Formats: sequence, structure tokens, C-alpha cells
Amino acid sequence: MGSWPRNMLRFTDTPQHFPEVKPPELRKKDFEEIYKQFNNAQAAEQSSRCSQCGIPYCQIHCPLQNNIPDWLKLTAEGRLEEAYAISSATNNFPEICGRICPQDKLCEGNCVIEKDFKSVTIGSVEKYITETAFENGWVKPIKVKKESGLSVGIIGAGPAGLAAADMLRRNGHAVHVYDRYDRAGGLMIYGIPNFKLEKQIVLRRHQLMKDGGIEFHLGVDIGGKISLEDLQKKHDAVLIATGVYKSRIMEVPNASLENIIPALSYLTASNRKNLGDKVPQFDSGEFNAAGKTVVVVGGGDTAMDCVRTAVRQGAKSVTCLYRRDRANMPGSAREVKNAEEEGVHFMWLAAPKAFVGDKKVERILIQRMRLITQDASGRQNIQPVEGETFAMDADMVIQALGFEAEDIPVMFGAPALKLSRNGTIEINQHNFMSSIEGVFAAGDIVRGASLVVWAIRDGRDAAKSIHNYISTKSTSKNPQLVRNVA
Ligand code: FAD
Ligand code: SF4
Ligand code: SF4
Repeated sequence: MGSWPRNMLRFTDTPQHFPEVKPPELRKKDFEEIYKQFNNAQAAEQSSRCSQCGIPYCQIHCPLQNNIPDWLKLTAEGRLEEAYAISSATNNFPEICGRICPQDKLCEGNCVIEKDFKSVTIGSVEKYITETAFENGWVKPIKVKKESGLSVGIIGAGPAGLAAADMLRRNGHAVHVYDRYDRAGGLMIYGIPNFKLEKQIVLRRHQLMKDGGIEFHLGVDIGGKISLEDLQKKHDAVLIATGVYKSRIMEVPNASLENIIPALSYLTASNRKNLGDKVPQFDSGEFNAAGKTVVVVGGGDTAMDCVRTAVRQGAKSVTCLYRRDRANMPGSAREVKNAEEEGVHFMWLAAPKAFVGDKKVERILIQRMRLITQDASGRQNIQPVEGETFAMDADMVIQALGFEAEDIPVMFGAPALKLSRNGTIEINQHNFMSSIEGVFAAGDIVRGASLVVWAIRDGRDAAKSIHNYISTKSTSKNPQLVRNVA
């Protein structure tokens, strides 16, 4: 193992290494993150594999356009404080992206050395740089030099809302974040499981943002006692960053039998349990896979999170049912591999045809599928293979078929809010403003179910537009609110 400083372009003599990963038998026993962290020498060595491309495809394919070659070079040279300064200039939460971006589809998947030498392990270096920055006290709460006297209300404390809050506070605005949950983080806290992202990582960011003067109003459901209109009156601009939460449901006979549950309810219960909350539906056994024959329907990252959670809860067996084949799975290949290593059985080209049971689900009738022509995106369409059905036992079925937007105009009592054909909020692509003057939107509620890194990007871009919009105002709608925060 080498030590720093190191020259670059070492990919020909230095093999790719990821940080140590816990063996499957150990991982299955708890919910801890499965990847350890690079030490200094490993990070320098892996960074030095970068060929410092003139046109860095890694950067082009990073939604945040992170300046990857520069922070890799600085890491190889042991100049970590500078590496952190560069990495955090384009990413509000690099320690989170380093852990949970599907790097194989983004930066690393497009690294030019990937084909012959295997990519630079960019995500793991990003995590290492940021964790080192936290350890050394380089990550500091925002210190506003001059309060702007203007305020912004943000609905939703997921990555889009938090990134926007961070950027707006840096510009001296009073920022108030409202979330219906009791903790900030959105799906980073209640969706994504601990073994990918430990919750103290998200809570640490939340604390930092509070220390920087961002006001959080948790347990506040906008559209309940407080309306969108109330927030418009209170703040100089409002950002809607509420994500997408309506689960797609299977339309097959008996889909309403007991023990057929939506993925997000299942994962939220598990995350809450791990956070030490009281979770009656888990304690009653309804959302607990222990001892059960579990079948998860779906092939995306949410499905992978469910199968791996069920393994850790002590399921008797866990099967993932997906109607296409492995090559056409929307989930990250790395996550599928992790699931397989942990003992998950994959049943490709198979879709539920009906559920069987008295009160609770007991069996699934499964239809064999075949791939046919490709659709416009290159993904192959499917059709049932006539006469090929079979049954399998299941006493817990988790539906992980994706999410849609809730009806926001109805939820917020704001009929003037225009929606796209997909039911997400329609915005002016140039400035993130919705059809209501002064009301902006960002993240999954605009894009549809996507990724944390895209939510951060949207939050940053929306914050820029909001800053431009409110900076043209000379006085705040609510100076009292601004003074309270300052
Ligand atoms: P969210 O994170 O959904 O946050 C929205 C917030 O708005 C929530 O806190 C919600 O409580 C709040 N809210 C909603 N309505 C209201 C209201 N009326 N009043 C007040 N507050 C409200 N992405 C990755 O990059 N990597 C992964 O590994 C990954 N794994 C995932 C696993 C699962 C199980 C799921 C479901 C998603 C995963 N994603 C992953 C996707 C990623 O989590 C989302 O794309 C991202 O969180 C979207 O960010 P957001 O800020 O738009 O919305
Ligand atoms: Fe890669 Fe995500 Fe980091 Fe961009 S933010 S460099 S895509 S891990
Ligand atoms: Fe380095 Fe790969 Fe990016 Fe090229 S594409 S700059 S080799 S990380």
C-alpha cells in the first residue's frame, strides 16, 4: 500500500480497490453501513489512478458537475483541506453522495479508464475527503456576514429543500424549513436504510444547518393547519420540495389481502425502529419480516432496500420478483450484487398474476414473462408467456413499484398550481418558478422519483433563482420574522 504524496496516472500499475466491505455473513446481522472508509494511504493511492482527463467524463456525468479531477489530485498529494474546499463548493452534502449515489451509473460508470482498468473509486474518495473534513473541524456552520432582511419558506426537508436552505442562508436570507415529519432529511432519513446511509450522518448535517441559523419547523404539515397561502404571506418566496410519496399499487386480484404492504411504509417502520422510535406496526409483526417467507415485487433501488432489510430482520427466505431480466433492471448493479451476496433469490421475467389467501396472503400466482421490442429509452418491453404460470408461498409481500406525486393543488388548497402530465409540479425551466408568482418548486416533486444528487442540484439551482427573485425586493413582507431569526 502506497503513501502520499503520489503522482497521478497510476492506473496502469495500481489496481482498483474499494474500501473494505463487511462480509455478507456479518452484514446480515445488523443495519450498519457495509463499506468501511479508506485510510489516508488508500485514498491517496486510489486517487492517484486518475488520468487527469482534459475532458473529464466523470465530471460531465456527475449531476453536480463536481470538479472531480482536481479533488482527486489534491487527495493524492495529501492536500485534504483544499480537496474538501473544492468538493464542497459544488456539493452541499458530499459525504451523503459519496455513500449513496449510484456511481456505477454516474461518475464512475463514465470514467475513461473504466473499460480496461476499472474506474477510479470516486464516491469512496468523496466520502473520505468529507469525513476527514468533519474529523478535523473544517466543516463549519454558516456564518452570515450581513442579514439580507428577506425570508424564504421551504416546504420539505429532503435533500432538495435542505440544499436550497443551505444556499439561501449563505446569501444572508432568513430561511424557514417546514416538514411534516419529526426529523429533517426526507427520504434520506425514513426511506434509505442504515446499511447504505447511517442516520447520524444526516442528523449531523441537520445540526450544522441549525447552528448556521436555519429555522426548522418539524411536525408541521403544510396543507393542514398552515396553508401555502399562509406561507406566501409570511415569506418573500416559497419553495415546494415535498418529494413524491404516493405508492404505485399492483392491479391484480386480491392485492388488498393482509401482509401485502407498500415498500415505503415498510422501510419507514424499519428506519424508525433503528432510530429507537416506538413503531406499533413493527412490534405487532405486521411490518417485521422475522421468520417470514418474503417476496418483494419490483426491480429498482427501493426493491433492493426492501430485500436487504428483510434479510437483516431475519426473514426465512427473501425473493425478488421482477418482470424483466437482470440487464433491464432499473436498480444499481452494485446493489443487486450486494443483495445476492446477502442471500436474496432473484426471480427474473416473473410478475404476480394474483394473490391467494383467506385473510392474509399465503401464495402468489406468478405469470412468466418474455422480453420483446425495445421502447424509446432502449429498455425492452415485455409480454406474458401464454399458459406459463406457477405458484409460490409467501406470507409477506412488499410492493416496490415506484412512486407518484400526491395531488399537491388539492393538498395545498392551491388550484392555481399547474401540474405536468405526470402529476408533478410544472415549473418554468429557466427559473424554477411554478405557475404561482413567488412560489418555486424543486426535487422529486418536479422531476418525479429520482436521486438525492439530482435533488441537491435542483435545490441549488432553485436557490439561485429565488435569491435573484427576492433580491429585487427592497423590503421584506415580514420584517419581524427576519429579525427573530437573525
Ligand atoms: P424527499 O426526500 O422525499 O423529501 C421531501 C420532504 O417533504 C419529506 O421530508 C416530507 O416529509 C416533506 N413533505 C412532503 N409533503 C409535505 C407537506 N405537505 N408539508 C410538510 N412537509 C412535507 N437516491 C439516491 O441517490 N441513492 C439511493 O440510494 C436512493 N435510495 C432510495 C431508497 C428509497 C427507499 C427511496 C424511496 C428513494 C431512494 N432514493 C435514492 C431517491 C431519493 O431518496 C430521492 O430522489 C430524494 O430524497 C428526493 O429528494 P426531495 O428533497 O425531492 O424529496
Ligand atoms: Fe459521483 Fe455522486 Fe459524487 Fe457526483 S456527487 S462525484 S455522481 S458520487
Ligand atoms: Fe480521472 Fe476518470 Fe475523471 Fe478521467 S474520467 S478525470 S480518469 S476520474
